[in-house]
Amino acid sequence: MSSTDTGYVLAGCRLWDGTAAATADDQGLWVGADGRIRAVGDAQHVLDEARADQARVIDLQGAVVVPGLINMHVHLSLALPGPMQDSIQGADLAELVLLMAGNGRGTLHSGVTTARLVGESRFADMALRRAIRRGAVEGPRIYTAGHALCCTGGHGHDADAQEADGADGFRRATREQLRAGADLIKVCISGGIAGEHEAIDTPQLTDDEMAAVLETAHDWGRKVTAHAGPAPVIERAVELGLDCVEHGYELTPELTATMAARGVSYVPTITVSRCEEFFRANGVPEWMIERALGAGPRHWESLQHAIAAGVEILMGSDMPPHAPYDETTATVREMEFMVDAGMSPREVMVSATSAAAGWLGATGSVGSLTAGAFADLVVLDGDPLADISALRGLSAVVQGGRAVRDDRGLVRGGQA
Ligand SMILES: [Zn+2]
Repeated sequence: MSSTDTGYVLAGCRLWDGTAAATADDQGLWVGADGRIRAVGDAQHVLDEARADQARVIDLQGAVVVPGLINMHVHLSLALPGPMQDSIQGADLAELVLLMAGNGRGTLHSGVTTARLVGESRFADMALRRAIRRGAVEGPRIYTAGHALCCTGGHGHDADAQEADGADGFRRATREQLRAGADLIKVCISGGIAGEHEAIDTPQLTDDEMAAVLETAHDWGRKVTAHAGPAPVIERAVELGLDCVEHGYELTPELTATMAARGVSYVPTITVSRCEEFFRANGVPEWMIERALGAGPRHWESLQHAIAAGVEILMGSDMPPHAPYDETTATVREMEFMVDAGMSPREVMVSATSAAAGWLGATGSVGSLTAGAFADLVVLDGDPLADISALRGLSAVVQGGRAVRDDRGLVRGGQA
């Protein structure tokens, strides 16, 4: 058997597997030729096993290995008001796919090996998902909602969310996403930052409309996440069986206690109310910047209520995962903010790996470094469980065993 058939061993690394209490020293990780992990653990033990199969050994020289990150709030066709919207809406389908593929590649290279897409355009996300699976283009593993759903004139209607009205209308809109291949459903139940004619606390769906979405999606075995701002609207949706809240700009202690008790997850996307530079760089209108920054203090409080109540918090950036932010990426900055708000670095790492995989129903496949999982990992200089900002020192990204980025030549250098 040639060495390419037996894969390779990453040795001499410190490793965090996605769930453990701490990063372990002297670890080894054996990547099989199928791109999945064959063994992981004590380096000597893994090497002994792999040597029998003549696997190549790559010495990572003490670098830290953690699971590839999962970003739970991504729009590869993000179209904020202004030039971004013009370029996405002015693009024909071919150009749209290419723009999204570019964002997908950037996402992957930033260390995000899996992305949950929560509102895309013209089902180009389905085509991109297939192309990535085939290896035609580089990008994260995709779990997508297809189009977000909203009421007529509701949040996202000007960014290609699909408009519907009445229970029948929302049932049909939900089924249209399922027909196209949606893995989950995203519905906008209140106003938000990017809608000119609404406020963050504008209720937008009636109970029977929300119930129609939830019932249809759940019957088909899909979860539902909601773009939502104000507590009263979210309370109603949670009562009806909502699975996850996006943004939650105005959460209260009472609501977060209910969310925790019912196992409703929360993706704060805290960067969206504190990314003035990104908005300015992309020419979004002044009213939107004001509304975003104005929501900041209450949004921060909401995250702190969720932390205090023990709500399951998942990492999502809303901004493109790889977008530059404070000399790092939106993804890393989001994770730093989560620590600033009161989560431990380990809790934040869990939120961006194994907990996210759990929400996606992908435990054992992504989000953890365990035997049988995809070899999706990133290589860092320092330990993010000691200091989350170690994520700024990312030097390599491996997806399905393939080094798609390797700044220091640590991984490829050892490969044939
Ligand atoms: Zn969003």
